[in-house]
Amino acid sequence: MTKPSKKMTDKLSRRLLAARTEIETLLGRTTEGSKPVDLDLPIGRLSRADAIQMQNMAELNRRQLEVKLKQVEGALGAVEDGSYGSCRSCHGEIHPARLEACPETPFCINCQEAFEQER
Ligand SMILES: [Zn+2]
Repeated sequence: MTKPSKKMTDKLSRRLLAARTEIETLLGRTTEGSKPVDLDLPIGRLSRADAIQMQNMAELNRRQLEVKLKQVEGALGAVEDGSYGSCRSCHGEIHPARLEACPETPFCINCQEAFEQER
C-alpha cells in the first residue's frame, strides 16, 4: 500500500486541525439558532413557519457539522496512529488527490461510491 508522504500528511493534518477549530467554533455559534422555537411568541403564522424552518435548517447544519467533526477527528487519529491515507473500509489506498480535496475522508472513492449507492 502506498501511503501519502510525510510532507503531505503534515500539510493535511494542519488543514484538519484548522478545520476542527473552525467546526468547533461554528458549533458553538450555532447553539443559539437551534433553540426550540417559542410558539407563544406573538408572531404571525408565516413568520412562525419561517422560524421553524430556520430552526430545522440550523439543526440540519449542526448535524452535518457534527458528522464532519467526527470525520476530522477520525482522520487526525489516523494521522497519529500512522494509518492515515488508507480506507477505513477496504484498507486500500485513498488517492492523494482525494485526500487533497477532502482531507477528512475516511474512505476511498470506490467504497464511498458503494455507500452512496446503498442509500
Ligand atoms: Zn475502500
